[in-house]
Formats: sequence, structure tokens, C-alpha cells
Amino acid sequence: MSEDRTTADVLVVGAGPAGSTAAEHAALKGLEVLLIERKQEVGVPVACGEFLPTAREVERIFPRAEDVDTLLRVPGDLVALETSKLRLYDPKLRVYEIDFEGFTTFRDRFDKYLVVKAERAGARLVTDCAFFSLEDGVARTSKGSIEAKVIIGADGPLSRVAASLDLPKNKDLCPALTAHAEGDFDPVPEMYFGGIAPGGYAWVLPKRHGANVGVGVSPRLASAKVGKYFKNFTEGRKMKTGKPAGKYVPMGGPVRPNFAGKGLIVGDAAGHVIPVNGGGIPIALICGRIAGEVAANHVLSGAPLSLYADGCRRQVEGPLHTALRTKALADLVWGSQWRLGVAMKLLGRRRMGNIIRCKSVLP
Ligand SMILES: Cc1cc2nc3c(=O)[nH]c(=O)nc-3n(C[C@H](O)[C@H](O)[C@H](O)COP(=O)(O)OP(=O)(O)OC[C@H]3O[C@@H](n4cnc5c(N)ncnc54)[C@H](O)[C@@H]3O)c2cc1C
Repeated sequence: MSEDRTTADVLVVGAGPAGSTAAEHAALKGLEVLLIERKQEVGVPVACGEFLPTAREVERIFPRAEDVDTLLRVPGDLVALETSKLRLYDPKLRVYEIDFEGFTTFRDRFDKYLVVKAERAGARLVTDCAFFSLEDGVARTSKGSIEAKVIIGADGPLSRVAASLDLPKNKDLCPALTAHAEGDFDPVPEMYFGGIAPGGYAWVLPKRHGANVGVGVSPRLASAKVGKYFKNFTEGRKMKTGKPAGKYVPMGGPVRPNFAGKGLIVGDAAGHVIPVNGGGIPIALICGRIAGEVAANHVLSGAPLSLYADGCRRQVEGPLHTALRTKALADLVWGSQWRLGVAMKLLGRRRMGNIIRCKSVLP
């Protein structure tokens, strides 16, 4: 990309799962797609638990999502460990084991794999290129101006594209930290609830060698910075970890509206995260595909960008809103370890499994 003005049919900002998937699907329709990423290297540092539900679980969570199998078809060398259960610990370390099919991945390589798919479809990646603002419909970036017919903001929870489009900000941003831990771990993902991570949870997500360990907290309920909780959790369990990396997780549910003018937002930028567990990769893939296809149809035939909002609403937002209501109820008990323990006991394994799958906690 030169320092002068560049043009493209579709400009995608951010080469995470949402942006790469959007770029791939816009390019598959034969459009000129530019994917810009502010980092020099896609996928690093890893600020993610690296856990994904299988396609079957994603279909259970989002029964109206289309062709999940294709989106979640991940090459074998990107699967770190397949798992069939989740182990939940209450504040007194009482254990609840839930059937849940998933796998850990290598997030750095996973993100690179998605970019390669986008490039194979015809999209062009420019790294080390930060989006600054939109001025008179032209994107200002660290590598010059880009004029595009549609701009897709996949630039994470603090999206500058969303701000430039005057779209609402993400609500309820929760800090989370993660690192790789060396050693032998049980082949079951673990989630710890209570004072160890107020308003969130601490996790151990096993890989073939070592595990991804981390902590996410709610700033409304935590009395210290997330780093302190991370240290307490990992040092308390004598884990040997690398340097932690972190980010905000947008836990406030889908941003509405998620399109304006000639732009739309997707993935974390649009609050596409499950509010009860912070998982966002599957939704980034589902909505990334909708974003890419709608953007392409807009350029090719003038189809309205509002079809993007319709697609997200139909395919993912129902379960996300159910999870948001459950989270509001959980917030009532989270302040007290005792109440949280009682609530987990009353809910039991089956209902907790339903909550994790974004089903209503009420009968
Ligand atoms: C600690 C932690 C653990 C998590 N664990 C899991 C998990 O186990 N499973 C799961 O499903 N989800 C998990 N999540 C959530 C998940 O990581 C996100 O939902 C997912 O990455 C969203 O994808 P995205 O493409 O929308 O955003 P991102 O992956 O954040 O990608 C956004 C990209 O945009 C780039 N960017 C930002 N601003 C600009 C700019 N101005 N110009 C150009 N580029 C820009 C960024 O560098 C980044 O590469 C976790 C989140 C955190 C913080």
C-alpha cells in the first residue's frame, strides 16, 4: 500500500477471527477486499483462552446459525486437545462436571490460518497499518488514506471504526489476562468461580503440552486489578507461566445498531461475545461471514446494509440476550461467596450446562 490514497470495494479493519472471516466472504464474491491490521504479526500476543466448542455444541447454542460445520472445520494441526467435559468449581471448590464438547487451539496459528483463507479467496492483507478515523467517508490510517465502498470494523472491543461511525460503545468491558502454563494438567477444562475472580472466573484450559491459564473479572465487583487475581490464582497453584497478555472482554451483549452509513461492526467491536462465559470466537466467525456477504451484496447489487443487522439478530442474538438476562441474575449472587455456592448447588449440573449453552435458567 502506498502513502497515497488507496481504493477498495471493501475495507476490513482488524485481522482477528471476525475480520478475516468477513474479508474471506466478501472476497469470495469477487470483490477487491483490503484487510488492515495494526500489529506487525497477526495473532500475537495470544490474549485468549484458546478454547472452542465443537460445531455440534455451537449448533446447540445457536440453533439458527447457518452452516456452522463449515465455519468450525479446523485443520487437525490446529487442535491442541479435544475435550468432552467442563469442570466447574464453586467458591468452596465443590466440583460440578458438565458434558460439553470442545477443544483448545493455538490462537496465534488459528488467526494466521483464517488470514490465509481470506488471502486465498483474494483479499489483500496489510499489517502494521492502524485505522485512525473516517473523514468524509475516507479511512485515515497509519499508511495513508483508503477509500472503500463499505468499511467493516472488526477492530476489537474498543473499536475505533465504531466510534467513527457514531455507533454505541461496548458496555460492561471486563479485563481478562491469560498465559501459557507448563506442566501436566488433567485433560478437562476447569473454571473456578468466587473470590478468585469476582464477577468472572479463573480457568485452566489444557493443551497437549501445558495449559492456557487465566482470569477474567468484573470491574464492578473486583476490589483489585485483574493482574492481582491472575497472580493469586497462578502462584497459589504453583503454576509456572509465561508473561500474561490481556484484553477487555465485552460482556454487555450485542451493540445496537451495528451498522451506520457505509459501515458495519462485527466480533468484539459489536459485543459479539457470550455474556455468561466470555466466548467470542464462534460468533466472530458466524457474524464475520454475514458481514462479508452483506457488504459484498451491497457493493454488487445495492442490497441494504441493514440485512447485516437482520442476519445477526436471526442467527445469534436470541441466545445472546437470554445469556445476558442470566448474567443479570448471576450478578445478584456474585457479591457473596456463600450465595454463589448455594446458587450453584441449587442449579446443579444440568441447569449450569443449560446456562453455558445460553439457555434460559428459568423453566
Ligand atoms: C483473556 C481472554 C480469553 C478469551 N478466551 C476465549 C476463549 O477461550 N474462547 C473464545 O471463544 N473466546 C475467548 N475470548 C474472546 C475472544 O478472544 C474474542 O471474542 C475474539 O478474539 C473476537 O474476535 P475479533 O476478530 O472480533 O477481535 P480480535 O480477535 O480482538 O481482533 C481484532 C483485531 O483488530 C486489530 N485492531 C484493533 N484496532 C485496530 C486499528 N485501529 N487498526 C487496525 N487494526 C486494529 C487488533 O490488533 C486485532 O488483531 C477471550 C478473550 C480474552 C481477552
